[in-house]
Amino acid sequence: MKIIKNGILITPEGEKRADLAIKDSIIAEIGDISPADGDEVYDAGGCYVYPGFIDGHTHLDLEVAGTVTADDFESGTRAAAAGGTTCVVDFATQYKGDTILNALETWKKKAEGKSHCNVAFHMAVCDWNEKTKADLPALREAGVTSFKVYMAYDTALTDNEILEVLEALRPFGGILGCHCENGALVTELQKAQLAEGHTEPRWHPLSRPAEVEAEAVNRFCYLGALAGMPVNIVHLSTKLGLEEIRAARKRGQTVYVESCPQYMLLDDSNYSRPGFEGAKYVCSPPLRSKEDIRALKEAVLAGEIDTIATDHCSFSYAGQKIAGKDDFTKIPNGAPGIEHRPAVMMKIFGDSLKPADYCRLMSENPARIFGMYPKKGALLTGSDADITVWDPADVWTVRAAEMQQNVDYTPFEGMEMPGRAKYVFVNGILAAECGRPTGATAGRYVCR
Ligand SMILES: [Zn+2]
Repeated sequence: MKIIKNGILITPEGEKRADLAIKDSIIAEIGDISPADGDEVYDAGGCYVYPGFIDGHTHLDLEVAGTVTADDFESGTRAAAAGGTTCVVDFATQYKGDTILNALETWKKKAEGKSHCNVAFHMAVCDWNEKTKADLPALREAGVTSFKVYMAYDTALTDNEILEVLEALRPFGGILGCHCENGALVTELQKAQLAEGHTEPRWHPLSRPAEVEAEAVNRFCYLGALAGMPVNIVHLSTKLGLEEIRAARKRGQTVYVESCPQYMLLDDSNYSRPGFEGAKYVCSPPLRSKEDIRALKEAVLAGEIDTIATDHCSFSYAGQKIAGKDDFTKIPNGAPGIEHRPAVMMKIFGDSLKPADYCRLMSENPARIFGMYPKKGALLTGSDADITVWDPADVWTVRAAEMQQNVDYTPFEGMEMPGRAKYVFVNGILAAECGRPTGATAGRYVCR
């Protein structure tokens, strides 16, 4: 057995000073454990022992605008594990003309045999038709309980189609997330900027103002109300959007909300960096104002945000972002973060959130909402041995040159981080130690 000694466990009943034993891929025992001959002992003195962190929103090996994300499942899950994440929920994407069952197979193959952490898939439904609808029960059988639709990009569905998806998911309790931006408005606002000769990255946020998100959040909430279904708002970035969510909850609706660290640490002044540097921060929704940041942080502290994910979607600055040098609308949208989320969250919130809160936002809630609890998201006997031993005394500085993410920059460059994952176990196998991967590819497809 592997025994984690002397740590403070973050359990569903609260903090507990105890040891934890791993047998094969399962948590075998929690308590006062004396190692026997042949047991491997890991010292967690001064550390918190979390159920492995889950990143509920990543894009690995995804084709976007004629290019492919810099991170595939090998480098992406290696980076995730190095930073303390033991499971990612990526998006299998159904392209026009494809079936959702084939899309799942395609994405499972991309991850197979090379994942350093566990991988589950949401299904991004981009071609809604009778066949897609008929395939839903089989997809559920194949382990998919969560879905996503877009209101923007060429993957967008119409309002009517989104309503039909919601209704079709009701019989088996699937949860639908939505990329809430009014795509038609974005297209017009982009055209207006370009017509003025505004081609630099700093015009990107002005083509996707807060109202564009808030309107879409409001619309998606009402579609959920019409269908009598809960909804999941992904990557919330604005105070205006938050107000729409509060209104829907006040009406009695169940609205789950995800936000990301970048929307609570980095503001839109980054788009005005000299030269083309602003392109590094071009993601959608864009980075927002200081006032939005304040509102989102208050919402996290008030318990109004359910999950924190990354929306990791990496493109290299030199080779990929550069495609939009003369037109900001051609910059591939997305930023890297899969490696740094737990540390960045703790940098943002420090002691104003307790370990139990970090556990809830980054492990327990994603496990519950996406159908993995209590196999994942909880330190319990019988749960999967996905475990992150977090050392709050290991202060370090983020450097792109030293990270695992396969991309040439990080928006968190040079920032000092208050703590780091000392040991990261994936299915009972040590996947990373002090930020360095062990090379073990113990990740499995999570059939939910
Ligand atoms: Zn995304």
